[in-house]
Amino acid sequence: MTKIIDKKSAEIGLDAIQDFFFPQRCLACSARAEAAAQLCTTCLALLPRCRNCCRRCGLPLCGIESPHSCGQCLRNEPAFDSIFAAYWYEAVPRQLITALKYSAELHYMPTLIRMFEACSPNIQEDSIFIPVPTHAARVRQRGFNANHEYLRALARRFPIRCDYGLLQRHRNTQKQATLNLRERKSNVRNAFTLRHHCDYQQVNLFDDVVTSAATVQEISRCLKAAGVKQVKVWSLARTKRVSNHS
Ligand SMILES: [Zn+2]
Ligand SMILES: [Zn+2]
Repeated sequence: MTKIIDKKSAEIGLDAIQDFFFPQRCLACSARAEAAAQLCTTCLALLPRCRNCCRRCGLPLCGIESPHSCGQCLRNEPAFDSIFAAYWYEAVPRQLITALKYSAELHYMPTLIRMFEACSPNIQEDSIFIPVPTHAARVRQRGFNANHEYLRALARRFPIRCDYGLLQRHRNTQKQATLNLRERKSNVRNAFTLRHHCDYQQVNLFDDVVTSAATVQEISRCLKAAGVKQVKVWSLARTKRVSNHS
């Protein structure tokens, strides 16, 4: 115990010294950052946490809805069982996630993982995590697979198992962000296949950002057809609503 306390004190001491000589800058706004967080106190305080959401689809609930499912999920049950998103896809989370994915700012990863952890996701020990797959051509173009990198980083912080090879995106679909809701659904229809036999009872799907949920819906449909009983979706960020015309 003494050793652990000594080690922690030494780490705090080193952080303070490092902060004095080499002050860290906030990744989002360049103001002086908290030593370990890589974000300033203002940006940390303004992080848009997802609260009071439908446990099924992760969208905000209105006052009269049950705390478990929104009216939309009750009327039209999704194929996935839950969506946990840490933040709304706006402001600082959007800025950091976008920079990591499209400008290869992989050094943002520890901050994003710490932000995810700070929302206390209730992850079961030894559970199976599967990344939402990206088409091989897009991975080649970017030089890395963001969802794989996130899961590798998560697996260092949580006692989880990852199956990187189960799902394959065999069609290079258009970027979902450029499409409206109906187009998003047809864009991902039949875009995924299972590469090997799957005998998981429960699967955790990870995607950096969930927008319309059309992609995780299609994958969940595919997994459940293969015998999976429960699919939980985890993401760093969720868009609040996607209108039919967005
Ligand atoms: Zn800041
Ligand atoms: Zn819902």
